[in-house]
Amino acid sequence: MIHSKFKIVFVFILISFGKSYVSLAQYWQQKVDYKMEIILDDESHQFQGKQILTYYNNSPDTIRRVFYHLFYNAFQPGSMMDIRSQYVAGSEKDIALIKNLNADEIGYSRVKFLSQDKHEVQFEEQESILVVDLDHPLLPGKKTVLTMEFEAQVPVYIRRTGRDNKEGIAYSMAQWYPKLCEYDRSGWHADPYVGREFFGVWGDFDVKITLPSDYVLGGTGKVMNPTVVKHGYGAIEGRPETENVTWHFNAKNVHDFVWAADKDYLHEIVKVNDDLDVHLLFQADSVYEANWIALSLIINPLFNFVNERFGKYAYDSYSIIQGGDRGMEYPMATLFNGKRSYKSMLGTCIHELLHEWYYFALATNEMEYAWMDEGFTSYADKFAENYITNNDSTSIPDYSYSRKRTIALMKSETNEALSTNVNYLETESAFSINSYNKGAMYLSQLAYIIGQDKLDETLLRYYYDWRFKHPTPEDFMLVGEKVSGIELDWYNNYYINSIKKLDYGIKSLVGSKEEVKVVLERIEDFIMPVDLEVQLRNGEVYLYTIPLQMMRGHKNNQGYDHFEVLKAWPWVEPEYTLVLPFDVNEILSLAIDPRFMTVDIDPENNSMIIDPPVGTELIIETK
Ligand SMILES: [Zn+2]
Repeated sequence: MIHSKFKIVFVFILISFGKSYVSLAQYWQQKVDYKMEIILDDESHQFQGKQILTYYNNSPDTIRRVFYHLFYNAFQPGSMMDIRSQYVAGSEKDIALIKNLNADEIGYSRVKFLSQDKHEVQFEEQESILVVDLDHPLLPGKKTVLTMEFEAQVPVYIRRTGRDNKEGIAYSMAQWYPKLCEYDRSGWHADPYVGREFFGVWGDFDVKITLPSDYVLGGTGKVMNPTVVKHGYGAIEGRPETENVTWHFNAKNVHDFVWAADKDYLHEIVKVNDDLDVHLLFQADSVYEANWIALSLIINPLFNFVNERFGKYAYDSYSIIQGGDRGMEYPMATLFNGKRSYKSMLGTCIHELLHEWYYFALATNEMEYAWMDEGFTSYADKFAENYITNNDSTSIPDYSYSRKRTIALMKSETNEALSTNVNYLETESAFSINSYNKGAMYLSQLAYIIGQDKLDETLLRYYYDWRFKHPTPEDFMLVGEKVSGIELDWYNNYYINSIKKLDYGIKSLVGSKEEVKVVLERIEDFIMPVDLEVQLRNGEVYLYTIPLQMMRGHKNNQGYDHFEVLKAWPWVEPEYTLVLPFDVNEILSLAIDPRFMTVDIDPENNSMIIDPPVGTELIIETK
């Protein structure tokens, strides 16, 4: 009897909330709280570490083994990252330096001891992954405590992490601690590190870093003992006089932890709306210091704009730290290079900030879906950059660079599907174009399908529904379907899982004084709704939208004076005929995708200009 009651409740939920809420309701994720203490010797660049993890198994499964990332072990000659970099076309030059590292220059993480709930456990280091057989199974709904002692050596600066980067920052500490791998709806993600992307378990970090007292630190979260370490003073004054000092950081509900240390950092603090402190840590430098001061002035308008357009920033602190190489995002912090033009610095600052939305709040698995993180970030940063540099908060930014690079890749032999795990992509260009450009065009094109208004709403709702979780492409698509009322599974399938190409064209036009018959054709396999813009000689513009039949819906008017939804196009049909109620001599031009929002590989056949007027009858066969 009880059994059947439960069944009735379940059916009710299905009916009343629809599929996206069911997927959220069934969602679970693991949690791990870190307590770490490390003591750094800045002469040997080695540190001793103690780590206590409280790991909560929220999955429906019994866990018998766990895995950790030991990223530093990849910074050794002969590592998988070293070997991989030697044959991936266009591989990053800095990674190729690994093969020359000496014993005192490599990175390593060595686990000395590990226990589970006070029982010592067996483990095996498999280069950048630690495999641990638990002493006793971790049942669903239970927690366990994993205590580790480890020692590590900070590698010379190669990529993203290390000591003495090229701008002379002493320590850029990313990927520096044994990090528990994530177990989620698709199982374990114990991917060996080959230099690309990341994924982590949500949790709280409590980190104590002991090192000589003349270093200034910045990092993820908040400093809990500011008066002891003179947090906020910078390098010039007020450093403690003791030999060693312990910096105590705390960050709640994040999935990674970064820090950086240097003896010459200046420290500026910008307050945003009484509920956020933004820290800028940078070296005193007669040439570039002014850029950091200029950057501090755009922090308020930048956060206010992004909070409004993409959802409110999820934490109460953020640190912009000179360190690392180029620019890299971390929870509540970024490390980037400071010796460059203000324009370049501003672009990086904005891009890395948007990652706090598209990765640190919406924690997609970057190895599986780097495009949902780099692509969405690249899409959104254009809006923020347009606002900060042109004071323009309304225009749709220009994605022509992303469009061109995506099309070039789609037409090339090296194209690979977006669904390919980025570690397995065979060329650096496929990695960068897939992640950044093709990823950004996923959203630009989605605006073409459902309308910019619905895309904006989808992004906001996606943020608030899925932040502090691990969304997948399907989760995002379901939000888009719910917001727009348009079916989108076909779009995800074609764009993410296939390397099919998109090419629609105007095949022919036959006109008279009464009407104009236009035949459109789908030349390649990728299917897409078609917008046809008709410009008349009197200046009037008509937009005809032809939805795909299986969208079971269509977008709204996107600002045209004349807007009409035509009969839907069944996807199997290669051609579509429409009749326009104009005298052919009234028409100046026709254009498919007039705002260049799609990755149509041959834009040449998308438009037609009828000039000069041709008399009473016109027949154009394009081939
Ligand atoms: Zn990025």
